[in-house]
Amino acid sequence: MSGRPLLNRRLDGLGTTIFAEMSALALATGAINLGQGFPDTDGPEAIREAAVRALRDGRGNQYPPGMGVPELRTAIADHQRRFYGLSFDPDTEVLVTAGATEAIAAAMLALLEPGDEVIAFEPFYDSYAASIAMAGGVRVPLTLRAPDFRPDLDALRAAVTPRTRLLLLNSPHNPTGMVLTGDELTAIAELAVERDLLVVTDEVYEHLVFDGGAHTPLISLPGMRDRTVSISSAGKTFSFTGWKVGWVTASAPLVAAVRTSKQFLTYVASGPFQYAIAEALRLPDDYFTAFRDDLQAKRDLLADGLTTAGFEVYRPQGTYFITTDIAALGEKDALAFCRSLPERCGVVAVPNSVFYDHPDAGRTQVRFASCKQHAVLAEASSRLQRLES
Ligand SMILES: *Cc1c(COP(=O)(O)O)cnc(C)c1O
Repeated sequence: MSGRPLLNRRLDGLGTTIFAEMSALALATGAINLGQGFPDTDGPEAIREAAVRALRDGRGNQYPPGMGVPELRTAIADHQRRFYGLSFDPDTEVLVTAGATEAIAAAMLALLEPGDEVIAFEPFYDSYAASIAMAGGVRVPLTLRAPDFRPDLDALRAAVTPRTRLLLLNSPHNPTGMVLTGDELTAIAELAVERDLLVVTDEVYEHLVFDGGAHTPLISLPGMRDRTVSISSAGKTFSFTGWKVGWVTASAPLVAAVRTSKQFLTYVASGPFQYAIAEALRLPDDYFTAFRDDLQAKRDLLADGLTTAGFEVYRPQGTYFITTDIAALGEKDALAFCRSLPERCGVVAVPNSVFYDHPDAGRTQVRFASCKQHAVLAEASSRLQRLES
């Protein structure tokens, strides 16, 4: 073999995710895993039954249509109308994907030329760097800073260059819990129009905005309908993260572009689950409100526990996560802290520093997942009190 590295340069540095390391630690030590963001309770029984029915009735056991089954595409379009007053043609403006992850990757592969710049908030959701890199794009981070992680709109404007092709935005934002305000969305939309940018929006936490707030899709703003690829997923909203049913809603030309790369990634996925999620999207408003209220109560429970344990807590406006700062505990390095935490008190968390291109900005930030059962969060909180001494 030649001395050439096996992994190509585009993927250099993207070796293993922090979740693999921390989940292995959780397993080895028996610690409570508040690292990875998945619920420890499955979604609604009726929806699981719908998946079983689809399997038994032979719906989706063979390749579904490339765009997704019509029942689901119609349900997605109806969901966009019901919650946001948006209308999409289920035949040309809706594309079902293998989770939001595939939608993001397919969008980058379809829309970027090598060397195109992509502006995204850091800390990043971990697939962004990889998806941009696989497409040959160049990521340009816009750092969100504690305590409230608001985007610096002047810095955003200044970051746009003639090579900027698109903005990759995530609101509600993982890991900080920041939710873009109406004014911020307006400023971003005006910038996108002025500089003729595409925008890809990751909205997987659209139903998890707390404290009476609401999610507004950027695609609903003036000038954005034809330049936004709006992405969401059933995983977080319905507590079925293993089903990997996601979707894109966008103009017909953008959907056609994303479909072109998507068809050669998975082609299709999750056949029977697509029918079940079509039913999930039609659940009454009560489901969505109760789900959000439950996750808000869980946020409060864990945030209070972290505060009494001595963490500085950045109370999130939405999502599954709480970002904290450990400097108040006399700690200097989030990665070292997270590696020692299972041993010290039987809890696993992840260091936000790994989600930054500029790790110094998140050197002492640690993320905890609050999407776990109340009893589990209470036990984790009580274990974390041992840190104070
Ligand atoms: C969980 C998550 C995803 C992935 O969604 P899937 O549907 O499981 O692929 C994408 N973006 C963010 C911000 C997430 O937290």
